[in-house]
Amino acid sequence: MSRSTTTAIDIAVVGGGPAGLTAALYAGRNRLTTILFEPKEPGGQLLNTELIEDYPGVASVLGVDLAAVMAQQAQAFGAVFVREGITSVERLDSGRIALIDERGTSYEAGAVILTAGGNPRKLGVVGEEEFAGRGVSYCAVCDGAFFRGKDLIVVGGGDAALEEGVYLTRYANSVKIVHRRDTFRAQEVLVEAARKHPKVQFQLGTTVEQITGDGAVTGVVLRDAVTGATSEAPTGGVFIFVGFTPNTGLLKGHVQHDSAGFYVTDARTMMTSVPGVFAAGDVRSQLTRQITTAVGDATTAAIAATKWVEERSGQPAESATTAQSALPAQTPGFSA
Ligand code: NAP
Repeated sequence: MSRSTTTAIDIAVVGGGPAGLTAALYAGRNRLTTILFEPKEPGGQLLNTELIEDYPGVASVLGVDLAAVMAQQAQAFGAVFVREGITSVERLDSGRIALIDERGTSYEAGAVILTAGGNPRKLGVVGEEEFAGRGVSYCAVCDGAFFRGKDLIVVGGGDAALEEGVYLTRYANSVKIVHRRDTFRAQEVLVEAARKHPKVQFQLGTTVEQITGDGAVTGVVLRDAVTGATSEAPTGGVFIFVGFTPNTGLLKGHVQHDSAGFYVTDARTMMTSVPGVFAAGDVRSQLTRQITTAVGDATTAAIAATKWVEERSGQPAESATTAQSALPAQTPGFSA
């Protein structure tokens, strides 16, 4: 007869980007039994980022290398990585949190830290995927410095396009904001700032049909939204800001989201509106989405989650060595 296979742990971290890896590091170092669930290699958006130059204390590092070190560090402090996605998170009457992974395995945690990140929306045009990281970017702060002296195209008409477009002028020779309508979704203050900037031009009522190049981006094919006429424009890079989709569907209906779908959290603890469920990084409603902010959020969330678990168990966490025996084995082949 089979026994219940629910694994009881202190902290479950859902997602293995910089926020998740940091939360796992702190929770493990706090000597709590910690599992990080991530269906892919750990690193999240770090794995899509070539060179990182704005992580304090590290003058320059490849995203993939930073991810590997962060993962090793979390595992060294006792966090176990399970290479599975989580399909369900539910608060039980007991106050503990039930999780089920993609293979149907059940876990019960004292606290959960949601760090599943999100993805910039894609334009879906020819050349976008081919030139990603070679002239196509979704992050001005991350990549702007690689486009010094270039004439750039920014796609979108929301806050991100207008704000990041102006940000790019510190490196670029010129920035042309291409937007499919002739009115903006962005706040007027951001539109005004862009209009006033001598390096910013607009091409409204226009869509980008194709991104062209030879090894790296050299141009775009534009289409007039009214006449349908197409034209070619040379460019040294295309920054796409047509929205960001947070991976917050897991708990839809369970926690408070902002109008764009991000989790609203308590600023002091990073707790969501569900007691015992915390959120950090790109899933959280906040001004910006940087590695440093993800790491900061996750530090707060892990410390708050530790207190949450300890207050409910009435004692400090058991020793990591003892706790470790309660955990499943590290997913085989899940390298860090
Ligand atoms: P957003 O507000 O959803 O705007 C996306 C823009 O991309 C819209 O102008 C949209 O055009 C355009 N777009 C969408 N799909 C497109 C496509 N397939 N082809 C061409 N254009 C397309 O997204 P966001 O600017 O990333 O902002 C996301 C959230 O973060 C918002 O809530 C925003 O307020 C917030 N945010 C705030 C700040 C700030 O306060 N400083 C900065 C950045 C982001 P249409 O307008 O025609 O739909």
